[in-house]
Amino acid sequence: MIIAIDGPAGSGKSTVAKLVAQKLGFAYLDTGAMYRAVAWRALERDVALDDEAELTSIASSEPISFGYLPGEPLPSKVFINSQDVSKEIRLPQTDKAVSPVSAVLGVREALVAQQQRIGVLQDTVMEGRDIGTAVFPNAELKIYLTASPEVRAARRLEQNLRRFGKDAPNMNREEILAEIIRRDTYDSEREHSPLVAADDALTLDTSAMGINEVVDWIAAHATA
Ligand code: C5P
Repeated sequence: MIIAIDGPAGSGKSTVAKLVAQKLGFAYLDTGAMYRAVAWRALERDVALDDEAELTSIASSEPISFGYLPGEPLPSKVFINSQDVSKEIRLPQTDKAVSPVSAVLGVREALVAQQQRIGVLQDTVMEGRDIGTAVFPNAELKIYLTASPEVRAARRLEQNLRRFGKDAPNMNREEILAEIIRRDTYDSEREHSPLVAADDALTLDTSAMGINEVVDWIAAHATA
């Protein structure tokens, strides 16, 4: 069974998807991390963000894999071509670069193929932007999570603090909000697999909901 969880940045997808996977004993795949890994590699190599051939070459020749931190039930470490880029893919420069990189058709084709190969191995909660529309259009359960931009910016701020501690980059709430809106607009207006709820997705606005409430709601639909 595939549970597809799509939605804009900061809608709570990652936190919720991980908890649903744990609750149901499913595998978990963060597809955004894969686009981020390709974007980071492009930045590292000074590849222009409109060089479609070079970006496609990175995505199709450098495999992405995931690893566990000690004691973690679900994978959170991200590797591209065996190089650990778990921290780098969350930096503000990667936030900025990832939308143009993920708009390139060749990049999408290469990563979607990897995601489809991973998803057929076992029951999986897969989160991203196009899981219910393009990666697994036949997913048994499709959820589209949203929240107001202000709530999403506040959540991203908290996440940065948790992830980076006192070294957290970009702690300005207004800047985070502007970045989130910029990225959503780009992701929603791109030509290939734009961010949109699948016709048969269940849409949930999580602005005023607690995490456990959202997780229980999704798990109940999965087991109904
Ligand atoms: O989920 P996250 O915010 O880490 O995703 C980073 C970026 O990767 C998104 O803004 C989007 O441009 C891209 N993405 C995508 N398709 C997916 C997942 C992420 O285009 N399935």
